[in-house]
Amino acid sequence: MLFTHDTTAALQSAVALVNSAEPPDTLTDLAQLDAWFERFSSTGRHERSARELAEVRAVRPRVRALLTSERDRGVELLNAVLADARAVPQLVRHDGFDWHVHAVAPETGLATRVLVETAMAMLDVVRTGESSRLAVCADDTCSGVVLDLSRNRSRRYCSTACGNRNAVAAYRARRGGGA
Ligand SMILES: [Zn+2]
Ligand SMILES: [Zn+2]
Repeated sequence: MLFTHDTTAALQSAVALVNSAEPPDTLTDLAQLDAWFERFSSTGRHERSARELAEVRAVRPRVRALLTSERDRGVELLNAVLADARAVPQLVRHDGFDWHVHAVAPETGLATRVLVETAMAMLDVVRTGESSRLAVCADDTCSGVVLDLSRNRSRRYCSTACGNRNAVAAYRARRGGGA
């Protein structure tokens, strides 16, 4: 196992959140917010309000910066997030999940929790020397974030769609044809 379960889950959730901003934006209503929340078995406060949706949408650029910044810059950002949120790491056990780290209370707003959970996850990524697991999609037209948890570090594209598009382009290039 590369990272602990809570770190992996936080990274996957953060990447999905950031990539929802890729056009066409797929985090524009409460149903999509719910789907993202449920998909990663998130717990804690979830208001299902327009304000919460706006806050989560607004935090996406900061979450992206935590995931994609150059290593030293990323450390500055994550330290600032943890200090701003007055994060206090605690081991907690709830909803059938064994001991794992929470750094802010479950009643903290969802947008802040995502930011802090991403910062805590990146803290793990940096100190385990695994920063290269995060990258921007290799597709020229896409700025999605790629989380590569594979053993052979083979993942280059953020989605199957980007992977397929480039496989087709490479095939055409080999055949010497145009588009
Ligand atoms: Zn938890
Ligand atoms: Zn992509």
